[in-house]
Amino acid sequence: MNRIVFATGNEGKMKEIRMILDLPDYEIVSMKDAGVHVEIEENGSTFEENALIKAKAVWKETGGIVLADDSGLEVDYMDKKPGVFSARFLGEDTSYDIKNQYIIDQLADAAEEQRTARFVCVIACVMPDGSTYTTRGTIEGVIAHEISGQNGFGYDPIFYVPEYGCTTAELSPEQKNEISHRGKALRDMKKKLMM
Ligand code: IMP
Repeated sequence: MNRIVFATGNEGKMKEIRMILDLPDYEIVSMKDAGVHVEIEENGSTFEENALIKAKAVWKETGGIVLADDSGLEVDYMDKKPGVFSARFLGEDTSYDIKNQYIIDQLADAAEEQRTARFVCVIACVMPDGSTYTTRGTIEGVIAHEISGQNGFGYDPIFYVPEYGCTTAELSPEQKNEISHRGKALRDMKKKLMM
């Protein structure tokens, strides 16, 4: 069976990725399962650069097909911050209750139409011959006035999707996968892999 290594050690992400990619001819394993333990410095300035940095670093160890992702939240009123710094924003160990409340406070003076934001996800792929490509998925929303919802992770409790009338932390995992940045980018990557 063909193998795809996904450059993440996060089991929650792996579950989501296997569910969305759903490629019966491929076994999808994490870098940990593949025995890769490299330290990767994500020092790119775009989601594309960071996803490619991760995928290439793992591919050097494993060859074959390697996928990696990079994602984050862009808040327009904050000049698209936290962006590629989403995980590190206000410190890696700071709780998301604090990060989320900080963003709400930053938008205290923003008009309703200035509260726009999006989640972005880029999936990078390195093929067995070393060629690379990326896919990008986004979901548009607005920053909520208060934290709300228990599902998901990270900035989900402040990411309000007007079409659904709730935050992404109030959607079921299946609903979120259907409309999310990660779902879109992974489904596009699946199409490319099946070509
Ligand atoms: P990474 O792609 O694992 O580096 O994650 C980037 C960061 O972006 C996460 O740690 C979250 O802070 C944020 N993020 C990315 N996708 C989502 C999402 O679907 N919901 C909430 N936060 C997200």
